[in-house]
Amino acid sequence: MRTVCGLRPKWASRDEDDNRSKERGRLMQRTYKFRLYPTKGEAENIHFTLERCRLLYNRLLAERIAAYEQSGRSLTYYEQKATLPERKQYIPELKNVHSQVLQQVVERLDIAYQAFFRRVKSGEKAGFPRFKPESRYNSFTYPQSGFSIAGKHLWLSKIGNIRIRLHRQPQGTIKTCTIMIKNGKYYACFSCEVEHGPLPASDKQVGIDLGLSKLMVTSDGERIESPQLLRKSEEKLKRKQREVSRKKRVSNRRRKAVRELARLHEKITNQRRDYAHKQSRRLVNEYGLIAFEDLNIQGMIQNHRLAKSIADSGWNGLVQFVTYKAESAGRRVVQVNPYRTSQRCSNCGEIVKKSLAVRIHQCSCGYIADRDENAAINILQLALQSIS
Ligand SMILES: [Zn+2]
Repeated sequence: MRTVCGLRPKWASRDEDDNRSKERGRLMQRTYKFRLYPTKGEAENIHFTLERCRLLYNRLLAERIAAYEQSGRSLTYYEQKATLPERKQYIPELKNVHSQVLQQVVERLDIAYQAFFRRVKSGEKAGFPRFKPESRYNSFTYPQSGFSIAGKHLWLSKIGNIRIRLHRQPQGTIKTCTIMIKNGKYYACFSCEVEHGPLPASDKQVGIDLGLSKLMVTSDGERIESPQLLRKSEEKLKRKQREVSRKKRVSNRRRKAVRELARLHEKITNQRRDYAHKQSRRLVNEYGLIAFEDLNIQGMIQNHRLAKSIADSGWNGLVQFVTYKAESAGRRVVQVNPYRTSQRCSNCGEIVKKSLAVRIHQCSCGYIADRDENAAINILQLALQSIS
């Protein structure tokens, strides 16, 4: 079987549009690592390529440094990439290395520079890109083409047809292939882009109680809270809201405060959404059946103040994200009537009345549990009843 390699290399994304980042919600980056068993000749070719790449890397770095010392500006990725054909004229050995592998060396150095400048900007301790001794240069990358998997072999341009141990089939589109030597062993790492598709079946089931103080508590007893970051922003939001209400009705200061408030609202909305995405992905990956209380059922929301915090706590986003992710993953989401789920004993069915302040469920049958966990178990049980 031949795996067709992706058309768009990772490192070429700069040449194109920024759609990648938008797609990221649907696409997942995965890396597969396989052991390689090169013959003596193939191993020699790998070492030859590696050494050529290392020398090129150091050479490009030296040229960047020299250019900076002479003219006060560094060379760009494109400027350095454009020198490759000329280099092949005076270093004929470079012709024995796949051309995209050489281009990727230019890219590597550029990434090292970008990382350096990013660290400088953020005030971190910034190590300048270094010359690489043999011990610190252990891989090279085919960023787009020049490799293919056929049966038990990995074909590499300019190197050979190397035996590979494919203990499993890479999923999705293979984007890049990196050859790596570690402790005298040879590996191929494939970076793949996987679209979220159906997941392998899971018979794990979970009920989820959505809470106010905790974001959710599962029937497995797991408690998931809002992240610290979000809580901090929310405190800030409260302060800002008070600030706005203190300002004079029509004033520049008030206008400014309102603008700041709107910006903060947006930031929090984004943070909530990110968090809901992360948690929903985790739930869908793990469970084959996920049960929630139905948020649309009236009566659950007893008073206005509670209703507001429900809307704020990001439940709607969470349930919505779990639902659509579950759909494409072939998983099941069931919503149940939440009536009395927090009062009923999940062990014997008895109704144990308790106010919101009572956090422990304690039943005459002897069952004691966290209030929310008991509710989550009830939610799961109701879901199982409704589908059986
Ligand atoms: Zn009981």
